[in-house]
Amino acid sequence: MSDPARPALSVVAPCFNEEGVLPEFVRRVGAVLEQAGGTAEIVLVDDGSRDGTWELMTAAAAADKRIVAVRLMRNHGHQLALTAGLSICRGERILIIDADLQDPPELLADMTKLMAGGADVVYGQRRAREGESLFKRATAAAFYRLIGRLTDVYIPPDTGDFRLVTRQVLDLLLAMPERHRFIRGMVAWIGGKQVPLLYDRKPRAAGESKYPVAKMFRFAADAITAFSVVPLLVSSTIGWLMAAIGFAFFIYSIVGWLLDKNLPGWTSLMAAVGLLGGMQFLMLGIIGAYLGRLYDQSKGRPLFMIRDIVGGPGSGK
Ligand code: UDP
Ligand code: MG
Repeated sequence: MSDPARPALSVVAPCFNEEGVLPEFVRRVGAVLEQAGGTAEIVLVDDGSRDGTWELMTAAAAADKRIVAVRLMRNHGHQLALTAGLSICRGERILIIDADLQDPPELLADMTKLMAGGADVVYGQRRAREGESLFKRATAAAFYRLIGRLTDVYIPPDTGDFRLVTRQVLDLLLAMPERHRFIRGMVAWIGGKQVPLLYDRKPRAAGESKYPVAKMFRFAADAITAFSVVPLLVSSTIGWLMAAIGFAFFIYSIVGWLLDKNLPGWTSLMAAVGLLGGMQFLMLGIIGAYLGRLYDQSKGRPLFMIRDIVGGPGSGK
């Protein structure tokens, strides 16, 4: 079902204050597209930059018909800027890439080969992370281990959003309406055949990371809460424990009172604290369990996704 109006490939890159790298990025991606042949477009999204990014983008779009420049009203953050670009792009295949050249666009050829072998998603997986601080590497490692434990979906470690996806996968991704987007996780959740391509992540070509520590932690919180209700259920585990301890305290103080060992007033105080404290934790846990299910439901994700149907009127890709 290849649509002639669609370019064979879209390259989508979010850009926030990237004037230092943009011309080089456009040049390198352009060269890669020449090599690849076929029709292509480059969708550049200006995520409310305050430097000359937009002027560079519009100049690039004027010079090269393949370039589509998109400007957002204000800074929406990496994941939403990327989402904007993904909803505008029209390609049959979509290469998601950062503008800072940390992910080499030259890997497109290898990714295309893997996709020709039947993959729905080819994701870049980092072998080395040059030019990144020890702190960034340590927090990233801790984050990927944590999210691996908390969710049922396999989210591959040491990946970014750098990946080649099919139109089918992209349309499924765009059908997920959630606001707090953790795109690499959402793509993993879609399933299909997802294949890694190992590569060495380069240092930034110019400028500095647009992910300061606070943004990184917010991103991690979005990722964990979008894929796991385990944190909500923590109170439920603690709740059972506290309820048991509270009840034991209750019994202990009553027995002490019966044996006349307690100071006046101690019994009623301890009995109330133990019982109420335990019950409160338990109730919190129950609320957490419902809230978790409500949250899962309110995400409105599809219940299942069909990869292909062979035979019958709906057959063919
Ligand atoms: N980015 C964006 N909006 C933001 C922050 C970042 O569009 O609010 C873009 C940025 O221009 C780059 C990509 O997202 O193309 C990844 O950001 P960055 O390289 O700063 O992150 P890092 O590689 O340091 O994790
Ligand atoms: Mg970067």
